Amino acid sequence: MRLVDTHAHLDFPQFDRDRDQVLAALRAERVAVLNVGVDLRSSATSLDLARRHPFVFAACGIHPHDARTFTPDAERELSALLRQGAVAVGECGLDFYRDLSPRDVQIRAFQAQLRLAKRLDLPVVLHERAAWDAFLAVLREERPLRGVVHAFSGDTARAQEIVELGLHLGIGGPLTYPKNEALRQAVKAIPIERVLLETDAPYLPPVPFRGKRNEPQMVRLVAERLAALRGMPEAELAEAAWANACRLLSVEPRF
Ligand SMILES: [Zn+2]
Repeated sequence: MRLVDTHAHLDFPQFDRDRDQVLAALRAERVAVLNVGVDLRSSATSLDLARRHPFVFAACGIHPHDARTFTPDAERELSALLRQGAVAVGECGLDFYRDLSPRDVQIRAFQAQLRLAKRLDLPVVLHERAAWDAFLAVLREERPLRGVVHAFSGDTARAQEIVELGLHLGIGGPLTYPKNEALRQAVKAIPIERVLLETDAPYLPPVPFRGKRNEPQMVRLVAERLAALRGMPEAELAEAAWANACRLLSVEPRF
């Protein structure tokens, strides 16, 4: 069974000790990865990982936490990075939970990255936390867009709004968390062609690995749970999610 983890951060320091072993295990287990940049530096490192591994792809972007670094110079640099083989723009979006950058600054950096994605004809990797109304307002203004709402953890109504915007839902470890019953209900109803599987490694490990470092191969546990919820064979779900990821990102992973 092959899978694509459409959201991981293998460049993060949590993988400094054994990054090569983790990558070798992914190749052996046929798990492809979209490595997602959160600032200019990690975007450049993501591109570097992608150049060295035919099953790793890079998204380049500036996370809402770092929106205050999104200066005109940074935008030029990001645009240059994106032209070096990135397959998506992101992660970008809004995070009003931690509010590490002022909200108006976040909104401007978000809009600018959505426009950049349209100019370069790339999909977007979106982050939203505690900012749903503002997030939706920006997306509606900037549509049409192609992309994925990463770490989706909303209910059926929110899932429906994302589908209506033409976007995909990135489903990860939170699907397995006991409190997320509304999310489990929501994912039963999404059209299968809008489903992507992800980990957000090293964060958000699925049950029973909570508290440990998450790794892209744990995307299997997400696939297993989602298949059970939807009442379909795991292999069929995995293959559908694989095809969705390859189509959205225009990639063909090789192991
Ligand atoms: Zn992330």
